[in-house]
Amino acid sequence: EATPEIRSFEADVAKLLHLMVHSVYSDKDVFLRELVSNAADACEKLRYEGLTDAGLLGDDGQPRITVTLDPDARRLTIEDNGIGMSEAELADALGTIARSGTKAFMDKIAGAKDAEGSQLIGQFGVGFYSAFMVADQVEVVSRRAGADTAAAWLSDGLGTYTIRPVETTDAPARGTRVLLHLKEDAADYTQSFKIERTIKAQSGHVPVPIFLKEKPDAEPKQIADGAALWTKPKSAITPEEYKDFYRSAAGQFDEPALTLHYRAEGLHEYTVLAFVPETKPFDLFDPDRAGRMKLYVRRVFITDEAQILPRYLRFVRGLVDSNDLPLNVSREMIQESPVLAAIQKGVANRILSELDKLSGSDAEAYLKLWDNFGPVLKEGLYEDYARRETLLGLARFKTTASGGEWRSLKDYAASLKDNQTAIYYATGTDLDRLATSPQLEGFRARGIEVLLLADQVDSFWVTSGVDYEGKPFKSVTQGLADLSLIPLPEGEEPAAAASDAVNGFIAFVKEVLGDAVSDVRASDRLTESAVCLVAPENGMDRQLEKLLAGAGR
Ligand code: ADP
Ligand code: MG
Repeated sequence: EATPEIRSFEADVAKLLHLMVHSVYSDKDVFLRELVSNAADACEKLRYEGLTDAGLLGDDGQPRITVTLDPDARRLTIEDNGIGMSEAELADALGTIARSGTKAFMDKIAGAKDAEGSQLIGQFGVGFYSAFMVADQVEVVSRRAGADTAAAWLSDGLGTYTIRPVETTDAPARGTRVLLHLKEDAADYTQSFKIERTIKAQSGHVPVPIFLKEKPDAEPKQIADGAALWTKPKSAITPEEYKDFYRSAAGQFDEPALTLHYRAEGLHEYTVLAFVPETKPFDLFDPDRAGRMKLYVRRVFITDEAQILPRYLRFVRGLVDSNDLPLNVSREMIQESPVLAAIQKGVANRILSELDKLSGSDAEAYLKLWDNFGPVLKEGLYEDYARRETLLGLARFKTTASGGEWRSLKDYAASLKDNQTAIYYATGTDLDRLATSPQLEGFRARGIEVLLLADQVDSFWVTSGVDYEGKPFKSVTQGLADLSLIPLPEGEEPAAAASDAVNGFIAFVKEVLGDAVSDVRASDRLTESAVCLVAPENGMDRQLEKLLAGAGR
């Protein structure tokens, strides 16, 4: 037999492994979820490839995952009859990290505490490598569907791994076997009740049946039925089951803030099961972050890259299972399909209307959701003109009148002053600083509410020509604010017309500042401060100017 070739892990993998091997995280159970989810993915990939190449399935068309315990040898094996990996694929998949989120993960985890650490591992789905939290040696033996060779990958997670060809008789007939030599302190992962409970809780709803063997020579016992949860009627699913499904499908540890499960009928038939998380995913603003909606066709997983939802709904997790997309169409063709277009439209509309409903039925829950995802939803205000109105209706703002609470534009419109023709806003990076800005003094004196916009995205949508009920959005730092038309409360005097003394002073300031300013004038805006900076009427908003300058424009 050839001596196995020793290879080094990519630098990032080595770092990640170091974290796993020396992990002090209390919640190590996630490794099981990751390995089961890989096994299920492999079965789904085979199901998909089998659509066009039935030969791959051979005489074993039933996908299955088998978990085998060996308490005496302190071993745990997870085997699937899915797509499998060739020797090259093994090296590629289990020696590198392709995922873009990993760098962000490493940065975050460096400063994380114990409990946060395991949450992070769950969120990032650090995948296969989490096996090294519980094992001091991991062996992966795999045979790709249709291949007549097999290969084994072996590592102790300390920097190197080996890959060698093995006899097909030493490998699964098809698919992958992952064998963990458990660390001493992880011996309880050979206890069948613990494994059964953990798998049911974490992976009970993966779409592949799972079997458990208590000992290498024991009879396999089915512990999960592999029935797709979303195909069951709503009335047959408990909140607990939805939650478990959400957690295993989304890799989250929180509760779903919103669960949406429905069947669209009529021109197109499809089922939607979607969740809004309770907490913010770490990579919400990662430019590479893709949507997290999976596309199934009649229960066969097709792709998670169909971009079912617009970017500003990228925090929604879940799936769509279509009845009328053709199964044998390629992933690329699906993108062009009018059926997909109809689904995209329908699902986005439905999610927005559910959010609207929630804002009416449970304001507290809605505001929490807005707190987390409002900055993302607001991207839709300039990305999706067609739904702008809906999104403005969903938007909530901190304002000079809200005392720290959220207000809707409807609230704002209801408290417009006489002669007020615009919705005023101030943009900045910090709410507290915004609230004390001198630009607001004249507005305060007249009791005019001003939206305080402190998210990056705000500078973009407010300048995109948007209006609400015919009222344009206008920056308090921009141009003359026309405040003189709006009366001061009774008993307060408007500022006297600029006196000679003031005019003389203005001339002096203009001379001193020269080209540094385009104008200097007396203003209604200030009541206490002496001066403030404003942008010209048709110029760029100051906050946007700063952002663009920061972006090197
Ligand atoms: P992810 O599942 O997010 O891609 P993982 O670290 O969990 O990341 O797995 C890395 C890759 O290893 C997978 O994308 C897949 O190509 C391969 N892989 C892992 N487990 C299996 C398996 N049981 N069968 C086939 N391929 C697998
Ligand atoms: Mg995985």
